[in-house]
Formats: sequence, C-alpha cells, structure tokens
Amino acid sequence: MTIHLHNTLTREKQAFQPIDPNNVRMYVCGPTVYDYAHIGNARPVVVFDVLARLLRHTYGKDHVTYVRNITDIEDKIMEAAKKNGETIEQVTQRTTQWYHDDMGALGALPPDREPRATEFVPQMVAMIAKLEAQGHAYAAEGHVLFNVPSMEDYGRLSKRSLDDLIAGARVEVAPYKKHPADFVLWKPSTPDQPGWDSPWGRGRPGWHIECSAMSGEILGEVFDIHGGGLDLIFPHHENEIAQSRCAHGTPVMARYWLHNGFVQVNGTKMSKSLGNYFTVHELLEEGHRGEAIRLALLSAHYRQPIDITRDGLKEAKVALDRLYTALAKADVDATPQPNAHILAALADDLNTPLAIAELHELASKLNKAEKPEEKRALKSALLGAGGLLGLLEQDPAAWFQGRISGPIAQGGIVTSTEEVEKILDSIRRRNDARKAKDFAAADRIRKELSDAGVVLEDGPAGTTWKRA
Ligand SMILES: [Zn+2]
Repeated sequence: MTIHLHNTLTREKQAFQPIDPNNVRMYVCGPTVYDYAHIGNARPVVVFDVLARLLRHTYGKDHVTYVRNITDIEDKIMEAAKKNGETIEQVTQRTTQWYHDDMGALGALPPDREPRATEFVPQMVAMIAKLEAQGHAYAAEGHVLFNVPSMEDYGRLSKRSLDDLIAGARVEVAPYKKHPADFVLWKPSTPDQPGWDSPWGRGRPGWHIECSAMSGEILGEVFDIHGGGLDLIFPHHENEIAQSRCAHGTPVMARYWLHNGFVQVNGTKMSKSLGNYFTVHELLEEGHRGEAIRLALLSAHYRQPIDITRDGLKEAKVALDRLYTALAKADVDATPQPNAHILAALADDLNTPLAIAELHELASKLNKAEKPEEKRALKSALLGAGGLLGLLEQDPAAWFQGRISGPIAQGGIVTSTEEVEKILDSIRRRNDARKAKDFAAADRIRKELSDAGVVLEDGPAGTTWKRA
C-alpha cells in the first residue's frame, strides 16, 4: 500500500517514500507549555496521531520514530510565571501534565520521543555558532540574528519572496537587524530571566532554533515528515528550514511538510488572541467525552477548516454510542484488522471523513449480521478501523458506563459494568424475539427495561439505549 500525502513544499499530493523504511521519521511542533491547550492546539495532535498510527501499521511498530517537542522556554512562560508568582519550572511542569492528561483523554498515544527545549540548549548554541561561522548569522547588541538574504531560496515553503516580506506587516523591525526579515536565534537575558552562558553572553534561544536543534539531534539532518498547524508555515517553519538547511548544507530539512487547517467558531479562526476559544480541559469538565471530541476533530479532512461546537460534540457522542452498541451486541471475539476500504481512505492523504463513513457502514452491517463468522469479520474490521483512527478502543461496557458517569452521576445515579451488560443482554434477547416474530416477548423486555428507567430507541443502525 502506498500512502499519498499533500506536501506543502510542492503544493501537490505525492506518493510517500520514506528515506529509510526501517526508520520512518516524523517531527511535529508541540506545545509551548504555559496554560491549558485549546481545541485548536489539539487538532494537530489528533491528526498526526492518526498519521503515526497509519505509518506504524504500514512500516511496522518499531520502524517509526515520531517526535513531538515541548517548548518549555519562551517569553509567554516567563510572563505566566511572573503573573502567578511561580517559578518557570512550576509553570512548565504543571501545564505539561495538563497537556498530557488532556491529549491522553483524546486518545492520542504519546510520541516516541518528547524532547524539551531546555534539554537541548547546547545543541542550539552549537547550531547558531555554525550558522555564524558560515555567514548565515550575525551577532548584534547581545542578540544573534539569522541573515535572511544569505539564503538564496528563503521563502520556498510559504512562497514568499524577500520583497513580499519587506512589504508584509508581520516583519518586526528592530534597530539591531541588518535586514527587516532577519529573525532572532539568540537573545540576551537580564539577571532575573532564565538564561544560559553562550559565546554571545548569557541569554536564551529564539523559538525557531529550538525545533531545528531538536529535530536535527534526534531525527538527523534530513528526515521524512514535518507537521504542524497551517499558522506555523510562516514564519516558524520557514525559519526552521532556513536554519537547518543552512547549518547542514542540505537541499531540504524534511521531505514532506504537512499542515492541518484551523479550528473555527462560526467561521472565524479560534485563537487565544481573539478570545473565542475553549480549552480541551473545560470541554471534558462539562462532561464531553474525549473520544467524542476526537471523532469531531476527525470529521473533516485535516487540511480543511473545521467548526467545533458543543452541539457537534453531542452528535459525535451519539455516533459513538451507535458504534459501541454494534460492538457490544456482536457476541463474538474478534482481533482488530483494518479492511482495504479503511486503509485506502487513510492512505489517500488521511481521508478521515471517508474512513468514518466506513465505520458506520461496518456497524450497520454488523448489526444485521447473523452468522458468527460474518459477525467476526465485520467486528474485526470495525475494531481495526478504530485502531487506526484512535476510536473504539475502550471496552463497550466501559464506554457506556462512562457515558452515564458524566452529568448523570452528578444526580447520584451510579451504574455498574454488570448493569450495563445486563441491559445489553436484554437488548440482544429482545432483538432475537423480534427476529423470531415473538412480539409479545419483545414488548415484555422493553417494558422491563422501561420500568428500570432505560429507554430503547430502534434506529437504522440498530437499537440504542439511554436513561429515561
Ligand atoms: Zn517547530
């Protein structure tokens, strides 16, 4: 199977050919840890988790290295520490834990390596020194700047010429810059700011150099895939490319550049600066299930913008209820094994909407299946598809238990796994009775459940249940 990916560098969908199929290498820009992650930050985590799963399935579990960094030195963190009266370490430790908890709730597997910027400062200093020695960087007033005009094809990823950059409003003008597009590699720290000794005095790295140094150290000078959100193309990824290519003298930094689209609220980009954002943490606190958030995030193609609303999350939960009900009703053991449809959908530049449609198709078929072998094959395909998408990985009983342990648990109702299994068993017996046209028995079972406060709903995808 050949995976095709849309490459921002060429603006084309290309067949993915790893440099070394025994070690497929992917780097994704991780969070700056100073606060809760908002849902827009969660999208690349979920998208690239699906890609990592697909790569592991294709090339083997031990033949993929997925790196996602933690930026734990940045001015926003220093500001947060000052505001809270905490040390930098207190802020970064606490918020890194929040990040791990929230992304774990979304079913994202930990990356193979999660380097922290503060652990790679010597590599950053070495890289900056190399760039300076080659004439790609210069020191000025305690800063070290990347000399943008020294790179002939700067701007290739974002398709911006140097003239565009000068005209653009996004270029910060500072007196120590030789060219307005030059960007900071190293900046001086005052005694109360965190800093490291360097050939240019005590200071700290700029953000862009962190990713170049960490990816170079762990994945090598040229690796396969670099990913992140659309908003990172310029200046962050453009500058990562400039630093890495000039330091290493390579034609590319990564061969395939993938970018996910924005998360929107009513058509406007969700962002902290616009104040129209919600965090993953608050959605979970409200009782939304992590898996429902994940399904909602995967319901549009990753390159398209996506609207995330609370109503949309409720719909995603209903869809998952349906899928888990199909799994729970299929009383056969099955080993997860994705079918050709799912693999083809995901290999086509991660077409998750098509893959999700296939999940529902499989669940419908599974609901209607009668022969154990048929059920086993369909359940196996459904679980296999779920394994690639990071969905349906819970025990159905646990899913249904979790479903009612949210808002309803606040009303004091606690339901055990045994009770859920009993309900599912009753649904199975009722379906058997209906199939045998014993409608009296079917009605009796429905009445028993309704007396116990459980309401059944028969839909095209089978029977689901909920609390009265
Ligand atoms: Zn980065």
